[in-house]
Order: sequence, then structure tokens, then C-alpha cells
Amino acid sequence: MKAHSSTSSSLVEGRSKVAVDYRYLRMARIWAENSYCKRRQVGALVVKDKMIISDGYNGTPSGFENVCEDDMGVTKPYVLHAEANAITKLARSGNNSEGSTLYVTASPCIECSKLIIQAGIRRVVYAEKYRLTDGIDLLTRSGVEVEYLSLEDGCSSSSKSL
Ligand SMILES: [Zn+2]
Repeated sequence: MKAHSSTSSSLVEGRSKVAVDYRYLRMARIWAENSYCKRRQVGALVVKDKMIISDGYNGTPSGFENVCEDDMGVTKPYVLHAEANAITKLARSGNNSEGSTLYVTASPCIECSKLIIQAGIRRVVYAEKYRLTDGIDLLTRSGVEVEYLSLEDGCSSSSKSL
């Protein structure tokens, strides 16, 4: 008789899941450093089946000058958010975001939240809270699992100094 022991590691998985979430979120923060935007740098990663299937940071569309702000320091209206860049990058790839997790360094806005829902993203893990919660509220309302993790581990999330 052979007892086929299936390794039930749900507890271990549960604990390491948080560690993995932090790791991806930290990677998203590092990815945000690619952004040439001065006011704010945001990074996003889309993970599915333990694979990063897309990435993004806030910036202008392909072919535009790598400047996010106008002469007054105001963000240009055609700047894409990190989430939008990650999702639209997926639209051009062979990957599929159905059931994936999005890691983003800032709370998603309502426009990005619409894209997240329509892209079939199941879970959103974000690091920075924002005074407006309409994006988060929309995600929650549509059944997307939303998780907030603080990245306050001694590293400053963004250097706002000029
Ligand atoms: Zn957004």
C-alpha cells in the first residue's frame, strides 16, 4: 500500500504569498525608475502563473518626446499611466491577462480601474494610497481582489527633489 501524499502546502503558500507580493511590488517600484516623468513615477507589473507577462511605467505614447510635463510643470493630457501602459502592451503581445495579478506602486485611478476590469485582471496589489478612492471602489465593486501593501521599509518610494 502506498499512501500517495499530495503535498498540501496551503499554509506555507499563504505565508509566502505575501512575501512574493512584496517582491513583485518592490520590482514594480524599481521599474518605476524608468519613468521620465518628474512629478511622479509609477511602475506596474502584470503577473500570471508566476510569470511577469507585462510591465509599464507612466509616460508618453510611443513616438512622442520623453517629456511628461509642459513648461508649467503640468502633466500632459496624453501621458499614459503605468497600468494603462502595461495593459496596452499586453494588447500588442501574445499574452492574455485573464486571471492575472497587477502590481502597481500607486493606487489605481478610475480610468485605469476600468481597463483593469475589462482586461480580466483578477487581483490588484498596490503600494501607495491616494486621497481619491473611486478607482479602488470600482475595482472592489466588480469583484477584483484589491490589496494594499506598504512598502515603507526604509527606502523612499520616490525622490521628489529636483
Ligand atoms: Zn490611472
